[in-house]
Amino acid sequence: MKALVWDAARTMTLRDEAEPTAAADEVLVRVGHAGICGSELSGYLGHNALRIPPLIMGHEFAGEIVDVGPLAPAFRPVLTVGSLVTVNPLWYCGDCEPCYAGLNQLCPNRRLLGAHRPGAFAEFISVPAKLALLLPAGMDTRIGALTEPVGCAVRIAELAGDVADADCLIIGAGPIGLLSLQMLRHQGAARVFIAEIDAARLEMGAALGGIAIQPREVDTVEYVREATGGAGVAVSVDAVGTALTREQCVAASKTSGRLILSGLHEESSVMPVAAMIRSEISARGSFAYSPANFARALELLGAGAIRLDPWIHEAPLAEGGAWFERLIEAPGDVSKVLLRP
Ligand SMILES: [Zn+2]
Ligand SMILES: [Zn+2]
Repeated sequence: MKALVWDAARTMTLRDEAEPTAAADEVLVRVGHAGICGSELSGYLGHNALRIPPLIMGHEFAGEIVDVGPLAPAFRPVLTVGSLVTVNPLWYCGDCEPCYAGLNQLCPNRRLLGAHRPGAFAEFISVPAKLALLLPAGMDTRIGALTEPVGCAVRIAELAGDVADADCLIIGAGPIGLLSLQMLRHQGAARVFIAEIDAARLEMGAALGGIAIQPREVDTVEYVREATGGAGVAVSVDAVGTALTREQCVAASKTSGRLILSGLHEESSVMPVAAMIRSEISARGSFAYSPANFARALELLGAGAIRLDPWIHEAPLAEGGAWFERLIEAPGDVSKVLLRP
């Protein structure tokens, strides 16, 4: 089969690889669409200890089942040859404290498709049956492939808690920022400010109902403070993850505000802790999604409640390497690149 293989920093090659087979508890999926994730961009640059070359990346995908292992129906009786599915790419053990609590994304034994084992930038991928979800009737693999990033935003919005009639701030209008913006609005937030340096991305944020802040022109914190009569926002989401954006989220928060940390740009950074203490601002990390968040994401996509169109760009697998380069340099008005094997 054809597969896009990451061989070394900034080197991706389309080549023939052995076709995987479904183990007893797995299904074999012919990939329809597979999205490029921000975490894979840092992997591609070689900045990520999780990913070791040679590797087939790709963990945001949907496709058609072409083979079913003999034990797979015991996990998911609904899965048959010809079913369209999306796949939760985070394998979990099912037998530890986080797994018992339904927080399988925090399982210490977790393994990510496209990092610990071959991913979806290929014609075929074999996956544990317990991780596959049927697409709702009428949904194609183009939309199904968005379930994973939408799941991340569902988790962020879950941790944001009650945002009804509250003002919120999101820093970063990449896919997670754009999806979190829609989730907070879906949960009844009053105004959602969105700050982003890239003009094309900021425009997408505005088109999705955000109040655009261009940090090259105005000071993000001052703008938010002024627009909220000095109070600040109840919830801020950092979808970038630098010292500056983390600090800005704290400075833009109101008393008792909640800060959700999602962006992983910098491993560690200085935070204005005294300000957090004096205003009782809480900060909480948000990582991936629970299986319940993932299922909810699929539901929301099925209902048309959340979208990345009309800015999704589809490209053949052979152009994958070039798209990694473009997404690193200047993504422009592309919300998500979906590769088509
Ligand atoms: Zn991802
Ligand atoms: Zn576990």
